[in-house]
Amino acid sequence: MTPRLAARVTGLKPSATVEMTERVRAARAAGRRIIGLSSGDPGLATDPRIMAAAERAMRDGDTHYGPAQGAAPLRAAVAAREQLRTGAAYDPADILITPGGKFALLTALMGVVEPGDEVLVPEPGWVSYGPCVRLCGGTPVAVPMLDHVDVDALAASITPRTVAIILNSPVNPTARVLPADEIAAVLALADRHDLWIVFDQVYSDLLHQGVFTGPQSLGGQSRTLVVDSFSKTFGMTGWRLGSLAMPAGVAKPVQRFMQHSAYCVPGFIQAAGIAALALYDELVPQYRALFRDRQIYAAGRLNAVPGLSCAVPDAGFYLFPSVGPDDGSVAASWLDRLDVASVPGSAFGPAGVGHVRLALTSSQAELETAMDRIASWAQPSPKQHYAGGISLLQG
Ligand code: PMP
Repeated sequence: MTPRLAARVTGLKPSATVEMTERVRAARAAGRRIIGLSSGDPGLATDPRIMAAAERAMRDGDTHYGPAQGAAPLRAAVAAREQLRTGAAYDPADILITPGGKFALLTALMGVVEPGDEVLVPEPGWVSYGPCVRLCGGTPVAVPMLDHVDVDALAASITPRTVAIILNSPVNPTARVLPADEIAAVLALADRHDLWIVFDQVYSDLLHQGVFTGPQSLGGQSRTLVVDSFSKTFGMTGWRLGSLAMPAGVAKPVQRFMQHSAYCVPGFIQAAGIAALALYDELVPQYRALFRDRQIYAAGRLNAVPGLSCAVPDAGFYLFPSVGPDDGSVAASWLDRLDVASVPGSAFGPAGVGHVRLALTSSQAELETAMDRIASWAQPSPKQHYAGGISLLQG
């Protein structure tokens, strides 16, 4: 017999996107040729110069414990990039380097959530917000915001236990960019109720048009914890490198969570991050152009399919088409019959029902094949009956 496990983990919902990625991996290992449009990994090869920087740092002996807060040159480079992106000036002392954006989010919440506290989370929203709040002993309170941020709905969800609002722009799963007026309204609400804003901007470098705004660009720096990452910008998901920018005086206590958990990001990974930021102007516009072309192409193809409707968002590499009421069956059918993996919108909360999230991260040739198959699925033809096996969405 095994002793009991903590409800902290047994009560946690598995990550729908991570589970889907695992199922696709298993199906491929079993010989099925799945086209993966389900993972949030941009699918870019890390630039060789970034890899060389990591290798050099390792050979130079940067393989030991380092400062828990992160290497000073990387913190300075992150602060400089943030100033360019949002105009917000951060002292590098207020930046913490973390093993990925997910850990930056958890660190931020560890810093502000007491057991029993409530945190407002966006819906549809990234699958880890609620679980990270729960890991801190808090209760996530979902607020629908599919195509706009309803400040009245946010205000109505605030109770005396509310301590923070999680805001994400560009949004996962819709790729929507929150306009300045919506962010200003949330900031005013946070001011009124003295709440933290945990602002997740991990897709902000992949803006295709318009202006990117965060609460920190509108004078909200003192109540905003900014979650950022190298994963999406540079296709560096496996490197596990992110950052958390905080108001003055907050980094020191919050950093203790890092000291007692991950301790530090490996120095050679941080060296890669410094090299990546130095290559930003060369690399990132290329990545943006690639994703933009794919979004326009795929949305065009989807809109030609009866029953599907797809807007072209202003950022990122996701599409969030409407597919009819039963998104779970649609995603299951695409996977089983078409060998195309997507994520049902309902995985991102009830406000996502009726959509699927497509991550345009496979090659152009694969994307074209996936779109051909989706077109054939909606307009029944012999092609509809791929040799589908077990439903990968079940179990
Ligand atoms: N925030 C959002 C909205 C995301 O989609 C992701 C990755 N899927 C992350 C944070 C975290 O990414 P990472 O931990 O790789 O930096």
